[in-house]
Amino acid sequence: MKKGRDTLDVWIDSGCSHAAVMDTHPELHCPADLYLEATDQHRGWFQSSLMLSTAFRAHAPYKTVMTHGFVVDKDKKKLAKSDAGKGGKPTDAAYFYNQYGADIVRLWVSSVDWQNEVPFGEDLFKQVAEPYRRLRNTLRILLGNLDGFDPKSKIINLSVVASAKSDHQSTILDKWILERLHEVTKECLAAYESFEFRKVFNAINQFCTTDLSAIYIDALKDRMYCDAPDSPRRLASQAAMYEIFSSITKLLAPILAFTADEAWEHAAFTEGSVHEQDFPKADPAFAPSQVSKDVDRLFQIKAVIQTAIEARIQAKEFTRNNEAAIELTVPESDAHLLEKLNDRDFATEFFIIAELTVATGAELVATAKKTDLPLCPRCRKHEPLVASGLCQRCDDVIAKPLT
Ligand SMILES: [Zn+2]
Repeated sequence: MKKGRDTLDVWIDSGCSHAAVMDTHPELHCPADLYLEATDQHRGWFQSSLMLSTAFRAHAPYKTVMTHGFVVDKDKKKLAKSDAGKGGKPTDAAYFYNQYGADIVRLWVSSVDWQNEVPFGEDLFKQVAEPYRRLRNTLRILLGNLDGFDPKSKIINLSVVASAKSDHQSTILDKWILERLHEVTKECLAAYESFEFRKVFNAINQFCTTDLSAIYIDALKDRMYCDAPDSPRRLASQAAMYEIFSSITKLLAPILAFTADEAWEHAAFTEGSVHEQDFPKADPAFAPSQVSKDVDRLFQIKAVIQTAIEARIQAKEFTRNNEAAIELTVPESDAHLLEKLNDRDFATEFFIIAELTVATGAELVATAKKTDLPLCPRCRKHEPLVASGLCQRCDDVIAKPLT
């Protein structure tokens, strides 16, 4: 350390950092991609940098300037750097990452609206712990479902899922989730490009909570747990889940740096670090199609069925969703969905019920009663049973030697 005697003026000194820093480090370049500071630097560092660089090299020293609002307390009072060391202040990052872990700190930063004043309090901070657990849990469930999956074997590849052919009725859900992933990927890439990290957080959080956990993974439980390992529809879902896992992990990597790295490392089918990967691309084969429209309509039908089931459960006629036999009437405008609704495998899986009979009529109505079908002791679905006492699917799975 030696005392410097050559400070001319703090704004001149910081304003020529492009010459002192970028020009003297071969790995850096001028103009810089990004200058980042708070809104008070419009008249400070951004301004002096611009003036000195224009005089010195006739152009700005940065390609983009990003200005963020101040972190304020709940009474909108500015929290200054000099508050560091007093536990509970956001500037005291060590307190928070020791308390919650570094990824929660990063997730909180990504979740705030940085363009305006950022209110801070420990209770606001705690609110991101819940979505964090959800994101982590989603990655864990995907990894569990991908056990034994080899993306290189290509028994079923994504083109089969993309075609959603009628001999693979059930792949309509896989195609739908990949169409949702296409939209989420597009949204996240655009959001990263414009530093709108909050949009990335919201898009992925929403996708994981609603589309993946509440719908897709829930409906697919039976096929993932009870189908044979080489069942085409199970492999199709694994191909879809592989795509989802690798896209989501890569998209989360800049925010949940440690969690994404850990998940990537844990997967048997990945190479290198997630931080060495490029962002995923939105696959045009999964741009939203008629499938998304059909599935959206099927969700509306599912809601009507669910109301009918809940009324019967309230009346104590039966206790679980999969005991329900449903009589459904759909309007003529849903005629194109009849093939799917009449497919027993599809209908019982999608609506998580025992039986469905469909007719067309004036309006959408459903009635529920308890099914007469017996319970398969292996998959816990109500199905016609064969001699072994299992349903046909389970009987086939048991009979087949594991390869
Ligand atoms: Zn069974």
